[in-house]
Amino acid sequence: MRISGRTKMCIIIGDPVAHSLSPAMHNAGYKALDIDDQFVFTAATVKNKDLKDAIKGVRAMGVRGLTCTIPHKIRIMKYLDEIDETAKRIGAVNTVVNINGKLKGYNTDWLGVVNPLKKLGKLEGKKAAVIGAGGAAHAMVYGLLKEGVQVTIYNRTVKKALNLIESLKIINGSQVSFVSSMDLSHVEGVADCDIILNATNLGMGEYKSKTPVPKKFIQKHHIVFDAVYAPYETKFLKEAKEKGAKIIHGTEMLLHQGLVQFELYTGKKAPEDVMRKVLHKI
Ligand code: NAP
Repeated sequence: MRISGRTKMCIIIGDPVAHSLSPAMHNAGYKALDIDDQFVFTAATVKNKDLKDAIKGVRAMGVRGLTCTIPHKIRIMKYLDEIDETAKRIGAVNTVVNINGKLKGYNTDWLGVVNPLKKLGKLEGKKAAVIGAGGAAHAMVYGLLKEGVQVTIYNRTVKKALNLIESLKIINGSQVSFVSSMDLSHVEGVADCDIILNATNLGMGEYKSKTPVPKKFIQKHHIVFDAVYAPYETKFLKEAKEKGAKIIHGTEMLLHQGLVQFELYTGKKAPEDVMRKVLHKI
């Protein structure tokens, strides 16, 4: 144990948060870079009603980094001193850096989507189907539009999809081309796409045996991306693999948003392979 009175704290807040993989991932990174005497990453359950007080605590105790998860990503914005332009555009903050007492908010979630996809090739001019219209879908749609991808949103509740489009509108000349309710007759349209992304809860928890896209619609040319990371390989990804499609696990999204966050907190390049290994072990 190398923690001392000089060690800086980074904390993930949310409700619930005990399941979070962020502490293990960041602490493994600190250890690998031999800075685990300078930084420690922990977690705190913060109820909605306590968010304002929690931010006061962050200021009072000089917490260096604050990672936010559900339900704080939007409401936290009003308690910060500055918000980066991208986070303002997305309308959510998942990363707060304490710079000499000033709290600045960022959003790294969209990079968790775009960076793993870029490893498989150029994104500009591609077509993507995003299934879902909640927080994860928001980050996906923003990132894809920014990279010049044409996006189609499928969601069970049409109103939420329309809200998402309204909030992002046109980015970088690209736009969300079409919105559909998520019944399977519409999901057939995914065949025309290059990339299919799941941002729903289908595949996890009580929906573990479900998939957002029937296997018959998945083809070899597709890149299939699942935001769900528990289980590590969802039914959606297993079936895509069987069809010969390229797949990206939800742990890659978690990892890549975390790598950027790590660099913002420590000022050092994150050890990608070490941090990935932690996510595969859990
Ligand atoms: P959210 O804001 O609550 O949105 C949930 C989305 O899933 C909504 O579009 C909802 O549709 C849809 N949905 C839920 N149950 C459904 C069902 N039975 N059938 C069809 N659609 C359903 O949640 P979120 O934060 O976006 O998270 C979504 C998923 O992404 C979760 O599995 C979460 O764990 C994962 N995630 C992963 C990462 C990562 O780093 N890998 C990051 C964030 C989230 P309606 O609009 O119709 O309700």
